[in-house]
Amino acid sequence: MKLLKRSTVIIILVFVLIFTAAKLFPGEFYLMETYLSDFSDKSIPAPTDEILTEETNAKKLLETGAVLSDSLMLVNKEHPLPENYSPEITEYKGVVMNPFAVKGYISLKEKIYNEFGTNLYIMSSFRTPKEQSEIIDSGNEYAADIYSSEHLTGLALDVYVKYHAGMGFIDSEEGQFVNNFCQNYGFIIRYPYYGEKPTGIPYEPWHIRYVGLPHSKIIAENKLTLEEYVLSLVPSKIYVYNEYFILRQNPEEDFCIPKGSYDIEISPDNTGFYIISGKYK
Ligand SMILES: [Zn+2]
Repeated sequence: MKLLKRSTVIIILVFVLIFTAAKLFPGEFYLMETYLSDFSDKSIPAPTDEILTEETNAKKLLETGAVLSDSLMLVNKEHPLPENYSPEITEYKGVVMNPFAVKGYISLKEKIYNEFGTNLYIMSSFRTPKEQSEIIDSGNEYAADIYSSEHLTGLALDVYVKYHAGMGFIDSEEGQFVNNFCQNYGFIIRYPYYGEKPTGIPYEPWHIRYVGLPHSKIIAENKLTLEEYVLSLVPSKIYVYNEYFILRQNPEEDFCIPKGSYDIEISPDNTGFYIISGKYK
């Protein structure tokens, strides 16, 4: 009896240790599966013809109203932008940015104003390769190589409030709000304090990057970086997050999406795949 008790205690201890270790050193998918599950998950119906559309492809989806964006372009040293890359850009109150980032930025700016009575400003947004090269030449320690800078997409914004710019941004209430809640507006802290290893770039509390919903929420809730998120989406698997589906797909292949899908957005991820996401009924 005594022996049994001791072995039970040991077993419990081992489980506690394993559980703690899994929490401290989670694999990429341990985190993802907390919020995302694919259609092979037991709790969700298996992918039958009834819940998926007939095979389709990106071209067909675009012809039927899907939106083509570049919100999920992964831009870094390993995945530089092609030299002929030229994003769609627009101007909002004199600031040039990617049109997909505008709505989220306005909502974030309004929220900051309503909460704190202060203005959120943009120090730097879209840059041409020439402008990025000039910043590098000026000796700016934070400037990325020309085609590794996501400022070229117009999706990255360097934000600040009066008296608090750069690293000082995080010392302000507004900076803390942006760092804690920008995911609700489609943005992520692209180089978070926990992300130096996967991104290769130290913490930049001021540099926000538009990726759109639901991606921004999944990334923030799971403490991921854009690198980890994009690269851990297994191609051709359908992931679900609340009312959204997400699918990373080889653009050459046909695929199925959940039936009744709407608000579909297709974005190349700059690694040779497309990320297709939208809502489904
Ligand atoms: Zn920046």
